[in-house]
Formats: sequence, C-alpha cells, structure tokens
Amino acid sequence: MSYLVLARKWRPKTFSEVVGQQHVLKALINGLDQDRLHHAFLFSGTRGVGKTTLARIFAKSLNCEQGVSSNPCGECQSCQEVDAGRFVDLIEVDAASRTKVDDTRDLLDNVQYAPSRGRYKVYLIDEVHMLSTSSFNALLKTLEEPPSHVKFLFATTDPQKLPVTILSRCLQFNLRRLDVTQISDHLANILGKESVEFEHAALHEIARAADGSMRDALSLLDQAISYGAGNVTSEQVNQMLGTISQQQVQLLMSALINNDGQQLLQQAQEISAQGRDFKLVLNELLVSLQRIASIQLVPDLEHTDEKNFEQFQQLAQQCSPELIQLFYQIALHGKRDLPYAADPQSGFEMVLLRMLNFQPMKIDSDMTNIPPMPSTTAKQSTQIKAPQTHYAEAKPVEPVIQHVAESPAPVKETTTEQVTTSNIDQDINSANWLNIIGQLKLTAFARQLGDNSAFIKFENNKITLALSDGLSHLASGKAQERLTSELSRYLNQNITLLIQQESQANTATLANERAEQKRSSQQQAVDSIHNDPVVDAIKQTFDARIIESTIKPLD
Ligand SMILES: [Zn+2]
Repeated sequence: MSYLVLARKWRPKTFSEVVGQQHVLKALINGLDQDRLHHAFLFSGTRGVGKTTLARIFAKSLNCEQGVSSNPCGECQSCQEVDAGRFVDLIEVDAASRTKVDDTRDLLDNVQYAPSRGRYKVYLIDEVHMLSTSSFNALLKTLEEPPSHVKFLFATTDPQKLPVTILSRCLQFNLRRLDVTQISDHLANILGKESVEFEHAALHEIARAADGSMRDALSLLDQAISYGAGNVTSEQVNQMLGTISQQQVQLLMSALINNDGQQLLQQAQEISAQGRDFKLVLNELLVSLQRIASIQLVPDLEHTDEKNFEQFQQLAQQCSPELIQLFYQIALHGKRDLPYAADPQSGFEMVLLRMLNFQPMKIDSDMTNIPPMPSTTAKQSTQIKAPQTHYAEAKPVEPVIQHVAESPAPVKETTTEQVTTSNIDQDINSANWLNIIGQLKLTAFARQLGDNSAFIKFENNKITLALSDGLSHLASGKAQERLTSELSRYLNQNITLLIQQESQANTATLANERAEQKRSSQQQAVDSIHNDPVVDAIKQTFDARIIESTIKPLD
C-alpha cells in the first residue's frame, strides 16, 4: 500500500471539516443553501490556508448529483471525481505560469460552452494578480456578462495588484492565517485517527514552525512521523526543526532574569551540543519575550488558555516590562548580527551576555552602597531613546530605557538648621533668612517679593531687605503689607519692613538660590547619565546618543 501524504489524505472534503475561515464558510454555505450565489469570489491570503480546498468543496456543492447544497453527498460520481482531482468542470489555473493574453483567451473562449458533466463550470485562478493587463481586459469582459453556468474563484497573495475593475466585480474574502492552536488541534485530531502516538508540545512546535499554513504543518508532520519512526515527540521535532524546547527557553529566560551567568552559559553550551540553529533559538527567545511582555502590559487579556502560561506569568512577575523590552531589542539585534559573529555559538552567547550586562538590578545595588545623606535625596530619571532600527522581519521598535538612580541633592549647610514656627521669639539673620522666607505663608505677590529680597539687617523691630532695581515693581503696597504681617506673626512681634532698592543685584535671595539649585541638580543629572557605565554600554551597542535636553532631574 503506497503511503499517502497527510495533506492529501486529510484534505477536508466538506465545509464542516475545514479548519478556520469561518467567515468565508458562512458566506459560501448561505449562498449555496439559499441558491443566491455571486458569480465571482476573490480569496486573498497566504499559501496553504485552504484556497484550493474551498474551491473543490464549492465545486462539489454546485455539481453534486443530489442537487446544489452546502452539504454534497460525497458518494456520487461528480463528488468522487472532484475529490480525486479529475473533475472536468473544475478548471484550476495557476496564473503565475499562464500570464500571456493568449492563454487567458484560450481559457475564456471555453467559458461560454456549457459544462460537460455538471451544472456549473468552476474556474479557480490562483495567483490571479500575475495576469497581464491584456489578460485582465479579456477576463473583465467575461466578468461583465458571465454565463449563468460559470463561477469564478480567484485567489491571490497580493490583492493590491489587481485592477479595481476586477476587484469591484468580485465578492472579496480575506483568508486568515491559521493560529497555532487551530493547527495543533487539527494535527492532534489527525494523529488520533492515524493511531500515531504524540506529545502535545511537539505538535505545538510544528504548528509554530508552519507559520499559519496548514499545508506546511501537515508536511512537517509527515516528516516528523518518519523521523520519529512512527511517533511524534517534542525532542525529535526540536531536533528536526533545529529549535529548542519550551523548557529550554524557560531555563534561558529564568537564568537571565535571575542574573545567573553560569546557568546561562551552560544552557548555551547544551543548545550548541544538540546542534540547534541559533537563529531559530533567538526566534524562540523573541516569541517568549513577546509573550511575557503581553502578560505584563495587557494583564486583563485572557492568556490562561496559552501553553505554559503559568511559567510565563511567573517570569513576567520577576522583572520589569522595561527589561523585557530591552531583552527583545538585544535579541533582535543579535539575530541580525549573528552572521557576522566569529561563529554562531559565540554570537549567541554574546547576545545572552549582553542581556546579562544590562540588568538594571546592578544599578540599584550599586546605588544602595552610597551612604545616606542627612538631607532629603532627589531622584533622577532619564530616558534614553535608542535609534530606530531596521528589520525586514519585525516592525521597528523604539525602546525606552528607564534608568532610575538615586543620588544626593546638593544641600547647603544653612538648610540643616531646624526652624519651627512656634510662638517663642525668633531671631532672623542672613544665615536663616532663606529658610524662613521659604516657610512663610504668603500670597502670590508677597511670595514674589519675599523670594526676590535679600536680607540686610534686623534691629529694633525693623527688618531691612534689599531688592534689585529691576524688580522694584514687586514691592507693591499689598505685597509689603502681607509680608510684614507674616514676618510679625512668625517673629511674634510687630515689625516694620524697610525695602532698599539696590542697583547691584544682591544674590542672597531665595529665588536665586532656587535657580542655582535647579542648575546644579540638572548638571548632576546630566553628569550621572554621562558617567553611567550601563548607559555607556547601551550607547555603544545601539549606536545611540544621549539627547541632553531630555534629561530631567526628578524631585
Ligand atoms: Zn454528490
């Protein structure tokens, strides 16, 4: 008995056996059952998603000797001939090999003749966008006045290339790529019927490698069965595909997240010893990182059906979303650079080491070694934008690397003095002036006046302040009144206020001190970014530059 490949043996023979594409099935089934069928359908979609299969079932439905219905008998001669691929009124054309206008004319010349066996002639024109302009014109004439016994099924991977005149005369459907679960469930179903033993993880690997195409999945499954001498295990499938198991991916990820360099390199060596393809291994890492990122960033989404969800969730909880974004970016770059590495293994190990190097935990632990200062500390946060990257296989990602470092803010000796607003008599002098003025409850105008005034002296209930000439407008009556009353309340005595205009600006004002503090803390933030080894490494790796205007110290 000759071996029939699975894709042919298990090609769906009825609409109910078709996996996925429910939106298309519904339209075809309704049209057939209500006998209201459009004469031209356009299926767009990648290869191996079921275009030919749909066309065959459709042809059977139209030509079954039991009558037109969405449920052809499958027993009559017409049904059997369609299933065997030798039904004369199902005309399959590959436009990629028949693009000349004469070819199309030959084809269309025959359109007007009645079907030889069935009720309808069904034309399946694959890759229809490959037809020449004159072929399209010939086709258009037929589409404008189609004979009632003809149905057209056009398939294309590139509908954009079709003339709008053709498009407008077709009912269009986008055939979707099948997802991993749809494919692996179907494979499990087939293997059950074939009595072949299998591991679910193995089918999952095959489904992922098939990239949306059921035909490719079935062909890989054929290979896996012969490779495994009759059963399908994860280990064999990984070996066949050059990929690594989910368990290995998890081990790599957890070594990375736990900062375990030894475990990381040991895993890399094992992968190499198994002869895996490092580019595919990086793909596995990318897929895992994407899953972790989606668990982290869209936790409300229903993830629980996914395979290995719990392990991924655990990893997602152990690290920040920023770190995962960074790992993803490093893995993408690593994949691109792999051909330039001395050898694939060292290139792969370098990618892992780079991820290890960028663990922000290191920054945190370094920073905690700084002795605490007797004053409040300021947090500095910086965003570094890496340059846009260019990949054929992925959308450019612009990673945002958050680097939060704690460092002490500059504190002047004067601010460490404790000042309270009790009812006991207070002294006021040039040393505590800035601190006191900062504590007073002032209206906006009085605040402006107080902040910009320098202290001269305090004698006999009289406080003398200096205000630079350019700011004399701040010394309005209201502002002085409010400042006087607030100082009186603070000092617990009635004071009078004398404000001197000075042509030379006295810098000992709160406003000046704040401006100076701001400058200094900005400078400190800029310095800390420029001197940070991690930032430096990021710059070198991604050929990035720091945009200084985006550095902001946080209070
Ligand atoms: Zn039939």
